[in-house]
Amino acid sequence: MRTIKVDVAIAGGGVAGLWIANLLQRQGREVAVCDPGRAAGVQTLASQGLIHGGIKYALRGRPEATFDALRDMPGRWRRCLAGDGEIDLRDVRVLSDTCYLWSRDAVAARLATFLASRVMQGRTTRVARAEYPDVFAGQAGSLYRLDDFAIDVASLRDCLAAGLGDRLLATEVPADGVLWREGRIAGLRTAEFTVEAERFVFAAGAGNGDLAAAAGFDTRMQRRPLRQVLVHSPEPEPLFAHCIAGLAPDPALTVTTRPGYHYIGGALALDGVHRTEAEQIAAGRRALKTFLPWIDWDARRFETLLVDRAEPAQEDGRRPDQAFVAARGNALLVWPVKLSLAPDLGDRVLRALGA
Ligand SMILES: Cc1cc2nc3c(=O)[nH]c(=O)nc-3n(C[C@H](O)[C@H](O)[C@H](O)COP(=O)(O)OP(=O)(O)OC[C@H]3O[C@@H](n4cnc5c(N)ncnc54)[C@H](O)[C@@H]3O)c2cc1C
Repeated sequence: MRTIKVDVAIAGGGVAGLWIANLLQRQGREVAVCDPGRAAGVQTLASQGLIHGGIKYALRGRPEATFDALRDMPGRWRRCLAGDGEIDLRDVRVLSDTCYLWSRDAVAARLATFLASRVMQGRTTRVARAEYPDVFAGQAGSLYRLDDFAIDVASLRDCLAAGLGDRLLATEVPADGVLWREGRIAGLRTAEFTVEAERFVFAAGAGNGDLAAAAGFDTRMQRRPLRQVLVHSPEPEPLFAHCIAGLAPDPALTVTTRPGYHYIGGALALDGVHRTEAEQIAAGRRALKTFLPWIDWDARRFETLLVDRAEPAQEDGRRPDQAFVAARGNALLVWPVKLSLAPDLGDRVLRALGA
């Protein structure tokens, strides 16, 4: 077994662990990240890759707390993508520079007023019918261009992993691998390595459930599952849009596009956890015909993906408003809660480490 000594040891190589590791390394700290899949990033790779400023959390026509936490995130990410931010993300592929809000009717008056308000200036633009992008061309409805954009999450993983080189260790930290000495965590012992460090960050997504208790945190974890829908076609129309109806709290559909398929979340995926795969596919077909009826969905192959979101437990199991960092002794327990919130999570971790 190899022993490695670093300043900060991190369990988990999804966006949270990799982002934090890159930040700390840039500050001259020695880091090591342990992940059994060499940075698989379970939720990160399953995510829709939308870097958003929280507008989808204001669909009732009034912003919620999450909206405030997210508002600066697209700008922070854009600086990183241009090589001017706290992390160099120039190798990350942007799949779409924008994301739309689409309604087949006029959007509810309260929401229209909010979208046109001063607080939203520069963040949403009503698109004139003559300027609709190809995929919406000639359709009747309301279309807004948002400040949000979509990245290829696999290229994000590769870019963040490349920055770490051999400090990314293909190994799992078992709960009994958290080693204690004199009331402080002294190391992480895995099947292949012992990683000794001054500070420890537990960023293992769903794996934090067991690791948190082993590291002495009393924070509980909640899972909020989604049943995403994948619609396969050889050349899917480039479509990055939230489809809305009325003043529902969530978009009915959030559609993104990857090579070979459309990837669909939103209320369809939230409600879909109570459906069988066949029921969810039928619901997906119905919803797509309702919101995007001019696209021929009939001949396409549908499948579903059931995946958990792992977060700190909240009252009533609702969505946490912001990135989570808890400190105990020489360890931090973190969940980003959203891919978009990675820069905010990074700030919080640096503050907690006194960096
Ligand atoms: C379907 C879906 C769509 C989403 N879409 C978006 C979106 O469009 N925009 C957005 O902002 N957010 C989105 N999110 C939320 C976002 O994906 C997550 O908040 C974020 O990716 C969580 O990152 P993470 O690093 O905490 O977890 P993960 O990506 O799950 O990474 C955790 C890592 O820890 C590793 N691990 C687990 N146990 C151990 C252990 N014992 N030892 C070592 N390593 C371990 C795992 O292998 C994994 O690589 C979406 C989430 C889902 C599920």
